[in-house]
Amino acid sequence: MPRLHKYRDRNACYVLTAVRGAVVTFQLSAEGEQKLAAARIGPGEKFPRALLLDLYRTGDAFTGGSAAASLALDSAGQLEMDFANDPDPETAFPACDVCGGVNDLYLTIRGKPEDLIAQLQCAACRNLPGTPSDSCIPLGVLSRPVLSRLFQVKTVAARSSGVKQFEELLRSEFESKWEALRKQRGVSQASLFNSGPSDGLNLSPD
Ligand SMILES: [Zn+2]
Repeated sequence: MPRLHKYRDRNACYVLTAVRGAVVTFQLSAEGEQKLAAARIGPGEKFPRALLLDLYRTGDAFTGGSAAASLALDSAGQLEMDFANDPDPETAFPACDVCGGVNDLYLTIRGKPEDLIAQLQCAACRNLPGTPSDSCIPLGVLSRPVLSRLFQVKTVAARSSGVKQFEELLRSEFESKWEALRKQRGVSQASLFNSGPSDGLNLSPD
């Protein structure tokens, strides 16, 4: 199960979890922190994988960025791998179609103009030599409407399994799972946005 952690040196949180045998660091937007705080998930606490999938889907949890790599090593000692029965499998996280990694994913469209292929690729794999990309878009900025619009203006011949899985995630509905957690923790819907969020990432005015 994912676990929320607080940065030692700033007023912001991140999430560590195991995906396909690797420790993955997810950074959070201010809204992402706020949603977890509203469900009374504090630093050090675990929460259902469905909620991290939902934060990922909305772009409020994302991988990549300079802080991620060193951070994961530093914090790995605190991470208990928890294989409790989480109903949403870790394989629900989209992964690179080439290497299976989940960090820093892009949707790439490449190939001949009449035979374009949409794939998910990580930083390393999208820089491998080969056909140059026609388009290369970070997953974090792709909402469901943006993705459908993209496929309207750009006719692709094939979508990889990773792309199909990402589309499925964008279609998923997780609100009932947030509500279940809030109920379990005795939070009423009315108090949802009353808890004070921390600064989030790089969002403070100074
Ligand atoms: Zn890759």
